[in-house]
Amino acid sequence: MELRDKRLGRHIPDPARAKNRKAVVDCLRRRGAVARIELAEHIGISPATVTIITSELLEDGVIREERDSPERDETVRGRPRTRLELNPEAGFAVGIKISMHQASVSLTDLSGNILGAETIPVRANRDAPEWIADICMKQVQTIISGSGIDPNLVLGLGIGVPGYIEYPSGLVRWAPVFSERDVPFREIVEKRTGFRTFIDNDANMTALAEKWFGVGRAFPTFLVVTVEHGVGMGLVVNEKLYRGSRGFGAEFGHTKIVVGGALCRCGQRGCIEAYVSDYAIAREANILGPSVATDDPIALEARIQNLIAQADAGDSAVISIFERAGTMLGTGIANLVDILDPPVVVLSGARTHSAKAFYAALRKALENNILAGTDTSVDLRIDSGGDEVWARGAAALVLEETLI
Ligand SMILES: [Zn+2]
Repeated sequence: MELRDKRLGRHIPDPARAKNRKAVVDCLRRRGAVARIELAEHIGISPATVTIITSELLEDGVIREERDSPERDETVRGRPRTRLELNPEAGFAVGIKISMHQASVSLTDLSGNILGAETIPVRANRDAPEWIADICMKQVQTIISGSGIDPNLVLGLGIGVPGYIEYPSGLVRWAPVFSERDVPFREIVEKRTGFRTFIDNDANMTALAEKWFGVGRAFPTFLVVTVEHGVGMGLVVNEKLYRGSRGFGAEFGHTKIVVGGALCRCGQRGCIEAYVSDYAIAREANILGPSVATDDPIALEARIQNLIAQADAGDSAVISIFERAGTMLGTGIANLVDILDPPVVVLSGARTHSAKAFYAALRKALENNILAGTDTSVDLRIDSGGDEVWARGAAALVLEETLI
């Protein structure tokens, strides 16, 4: 299938103009609706340049004049000062998130509003990548036709996968959801859909969701730690997602917390995930019984829900399992805070709904392990937005890649 290479905007700007164009869009992303004169002040470019850039963006449909603004104010000459905002209907993005027991498919506009979403059960690690791509695509087509939008306005497809993703090539080097290594998943999906596809580590997509639609509006630098079936991290530094030199940086879940410690599913020992992820918690709980197969995603999910309930009901042996996991993660985050000194840390993912004992231990370990003498009151925020966060992350990824 021929690839539909869509770009948001017909004007191909020269590098200097592209920089200003991006600055205008960034300013509107952070501040919502802004008048032209204020854009010039915030960005530090001349009002004349703002006029040129914004008229191009208006013509391209990337931005629009604010509708029904209650704050639409009057200038001294009595002329209304029109404010500009991003146009959410300039394009649409499809998002897919593949986790251990399900694939979530969504369609969003460019403001991250979800127009349709569906969850499909998959048996990660057992179903072939091609099969997963096929069933996701079927669902994507159903959602697009159900939404009534023009499929030509879909700018691209953002896919989040846990694991090592080589972003520039779209190669999944290793992921617990696939049984093979080096899966060319971007190519597999593009061949089937014709949509431009961007594939990234799922924690990076959460960080992009926060950048465009969450804490990133107020903080140019922040850290996201995701606690799902595994542990991930996304780092945004001065408005830019940090991916490392080869595209798979920030693999916090596989940093070592205990030298020679518990075996991790990546094959190494002592990783944070080997203590905090679902399989690690179930592995410990198996000693208490009843035992479950930790490589069966559906049985694992049911077991974890059960263990959370047991811990919250006061079962001391189960509480000790969650306390150990929370302590490991809290200590790991303390290491990150000492290295990076971020102004805010966001905790995101399905396991933001973990046992109370897990979070109590996490906060305690975080406070106890940050370098003494520094301000120990870390601004830790919990985002339990669930699958919406991933869908927004996909929209953000497509926006970053197609906005010119
Ligand atoms: Zn590992």
